[in-house]
Order: sequence, then C-alpha cells, then structure tokens
Amino acid sequence: MQRVDVAVVGGGPAGTAAGTAAAENDADALIIEKGVPRADREQPGPDSTDAAGMLDYWTDLMDLNEPVPEWVKCRELDGTVFRGPTENVTIRSTGIDSSYPNFGFTFNRARFDDWLRERAEDAGATYRVGNGVQHVDVDPRAGHTLTLRDGEEITAEYVILADGPQRTVTNRVLEPLLSDDAIDRLASTRANHIAYQEHREFPEEVFDESLLTFWWGFIPGHTAYPWVFPNDGTVARVGLTMPIGLDLSTVESHKEYALLRESDDTVPAGNVYIRRLLEREYGDEYDIDEAFPLVEDRGKRNGTETYPISSTRPIDSPTAAKVAIVGGAMGATSAFHEGGDHVAVRTGKIAGRLAALGALRAYNSEWKHAIGDEILRNVSLADVVRGYEPSDWDRAFGVVDRMLNDGKYHTRKALTSGLRGLSLLGTYEWTKFGYRNHRYVQIQEEQYER
Ligand SMILES: Cc1cc2nc3c(=O)[nH]c(=O)nc-3n(C[C@H](O)[C@H](O)[C@H](O)COP(=O)(O)OP(=O)(O)OC[C@H]3O[C@@H](n4cnc5c(N)ncnc54)[C@H](O)[C@@H]3O)c2cc1C
Repeated sequence: MQRVDVAVVGGGPAGTAAGTAAAENDADALIIEKGVPRADREQPGPDSTDAAGMLDYWTDLMDLNEPVPEWVKCRELDGTVFRGPTENVTIRSTGIDSSYPNFGFTFNRARFDDWLRERAEDAGATYRVGNGVQHVDVDPRAGHTLTLRDGEEITAEYVILADGPQRTVTNRVLEPLLSDDAIDRLASTRANHIAYQEHREFPEEVFDESLLTFWWGFIPGHTAYPWVFPNDGTVARVGLTMPIGLDLSTVESHKEYALLRESDDTVPAGNVYIRRLLEREYGDEYDIDEAFPLVEDRGKRNGTETYPISSTRPIDSPTAAKVAIVGGAMGATSAFHEGGDHVAVRTGKIAGRLAALGALRAYNSEWKHAIGDEILRNVSLADVVRGYEPSDWDRAFGVVDRMLNDGKYHTRKALTSGLRGLSLLGTYEWTKFGYRNHRYVQIQEEQYER
C-alpha cells in the first residue's frame, strides 16, 4: 500500500495549491484528481469551471509567489458593468488596494489549472488523474486510508479535502464527526444552484473587450443573474447562475423580470434564458444564430458548460482529526458563487504548508486571518441583496452610481448621495457587524466530535 505524508482529494486550484505548498515544505504529497473530459483539453483533467475572471486584489490574496503567466490570461479588464432593469452602473475600481496594475483579467480556466498542476509537480508533488477517491477512512493515529474507485488503497498522515463545492467526498468524511443537524446543513440539496454558460462569437462592434457585464434583477432567485465575460478574439462566455427548483408561483413580481415570459410556469432552462438575453440586447439589429454563433470546440461539451453549485458559507475543518477542507469544499467560494479561485488557492496553500509542518491545528485560525475580510464582504453582500426584486436593483444601482466618481468610490460623493446611499451603506455595515468575530462560519471547529 502506498503511504504518503499528505494526500489531497481533488486537483482543482485548491488541491494543486495544497499539494504545491506541502511539497515545498518537504512533505511527500499526492494529489488525486478523478479526471473530467473537456472539449478544450486533450486528456481528462480537473473540472475546470470555466467562467474565469480575476480581480486585481485577488491576485494578492492568492499569494502565489509569481504572477499568473500571460498564456493563461484571455483579457486585461478595465472594469465591470452592472445592469439593472433600467439603471446601470460601471465600476472601474474594486476599491481595494492591490499590486495588480489593472482592474483584473479574464483567463482560460483549463490553462490556469494546467499551470497550477505544473507548479505542483515542479515542487515535487505527484498529480494522479483518472481514478477518483471513493472513500476515506479517517484515523488520525494510525493514518487515514483512502480507497480509490478501482479499489487501490493509499494511507496518509494528513488528508486535505479539495473536492469542490459538491463535497462528494467531504460530506462523507464529515458525517461521522458531526451531529445530524450540522451535516444536514451541508447537504448539497440545501442550497443548490445551477450555472450554465455558452461560448459565443460576438460581432466586433458590440464586443466589449475590457468589461465584465452582469445583469441583476432580470431573472428571479437569490444570486440569480446572467453575465458576459470577454475571452480571446471576439469570443465571450455568456452564462448565468440560478437556483434549482425555484417555484415561479412564489415569485410575486413575475412580470418585472425581463427574461421571464408570462407563459412561463416553470423556471426556463439556462439556454432559454441566454437566448432571451441575447435577443433582448441585440435582437433588434442582429440575427442571433448568425451573428452570435456557438463556438463548439470549447468548454466542456459543444461550446456549453453546466455546473451544479451551492451558495453557502464557510466551515471550519476538523484539524484534530488531521483533516483540512479547502476551497469550494469548505464553502470559501463567494456566496455569489463566483470569485472563488483566489480563496481556493489561498486556503489550499495554507493547509498544505501546515500539514507538511505538522501544524495543521493552526489551519482554522490561519485561513480566517488570510481571507476572513473577503469572506465577510461576500457573505454580507449576499445577505443584503436577499429578496431583492427588479426595482430594488434599480434603486441600488442608481444609488451606487451617484456614489461613484468616474467609476471609483468617492467618500464625499457617498456622503452627498443622500439618505438612500447612507441606508444602503448602513445596511451593509450592519450586516457585516452581525457576522463579526467570524460568525460567518457555519460549522465551528468545536462542533466536530473528535
Ligand atoms: C459558473 C461558475 C463561474 C465561476 N466564475 C468564477 C470566476 O470568474 N472567478 C473565480 O475566481 N471563481 C469563479 N468561480 C468559482 C471557482 O470556479 C471555484 O471557486 C473554484 O473552482 C474552487 O476551486 P476548488 O479547487 O476548491 O474546486 P474545483 O475547482 O471544483 O475542483 C475540485 C476538483 O475535485 C475533483 N474531484 C471531485 N470529487 C473527486 C473525487 N471523489 N476524487 C478525486 N477528485 C475529485 C473534481 O474533478 C475537481 O477537479 C466560478 C464558479 C462557477 C460554478
């Protein structure tokens, strides 16, 4: 039976960062990736969720010791446009200090993952693809035993769970360590969303090469919104995220959602929503099929991708059991679903280093120190907008627009934007206050039974 110091389940950004850091700190590190086929990769590889955008300060939060190489990037970005039903706001600064010169960049996620894998292997970690982990028998004294799908067994002193937000392995590992109530909160069915996207060629004249665009208040559901991310050439990823199982009869302002039709009695499929978005934005001037063709040799399959995702808050790890949970599996991905690669890389890096040093007990406090502010911002903002209807988005964007000075936050403008601005800021600050002292953590370390 193979024996390693640190076994990592999952070879996405969190897993590769964990393997890299463990190997850099002289541990024998093994990353086990089940392997997913993609049209844009020759061999099966990690499940590269390809809606990849990186904001300026996220590059610092990743703490990668080297910049993301140019061959991984698609486009440098100048800002983001948020579109409400009638109000728009363009933001040209994240408002957070950063060493990165621009607003951020879009990147090719498969290449990003390949680069992270290369780094892990260069550091001395082993990366195995094609045989997923079936089961982990947790034993902090004699060593954990990982059983792979083909029956092979591997023992490891430390296990780092980086199996992504679906937590297929993580939930089974945590089940015996948590009360039924706590494990129920982690079930992926509790807060499930679906993300769907298409790679489409755009006519040059409407292709915005340096701005991300998000549409809020266009489709119903908490954190449900379409987006366009510019890629290379004039190809953009047009996608959306929406909750699974939303009952439209509970949506009071049905008529106000621009991408819903009165005849819809169930939530439309992702491709229907995207079609309606393109028709709404460009249908007057263009034939959508002809002018915005699908780029079929990209993405997971035929130019499209679908991912099940969960909107959640982070959990502590059972470090006394010599187990760490990182990235999407720990719920570090933003409560808005996106914006997770940076926290995945950072939590993986922290866990890998601490496991290699035999100091994993420090993990829960170290990750909070490193990414706590970011999580607090995301969790609070997601709470503030819970229940927002189309008119609320318009109001919010109108207020934010008045608070900006040439796309950058400006204190005087904020102060002079009236009661609405202050109330928006006040609600956000008050929500953040409610999550003070790490109260955003949904499973605390003390809740684990050993
Ligand atoms: C539609 C969408 C858009 C997004 N956009 C952005 C964005 O623009 N910017 C950003 O920073 N983040 C974005 N994110 C979030 C980002 O994709 C995640 O935060 C990130 O992928 C988390 O990395 P991870 O390594 O924790 O998990 P994942 O990337 O999910 O990796 C987990 C890996 O574990 C493997 N695995 C699972 N089970 C097993 C098993 N049993 N055995 C072995 N391997 C296993 C999977 O195959 C997968 O490769 C987006 C997410 C979605 C869904």
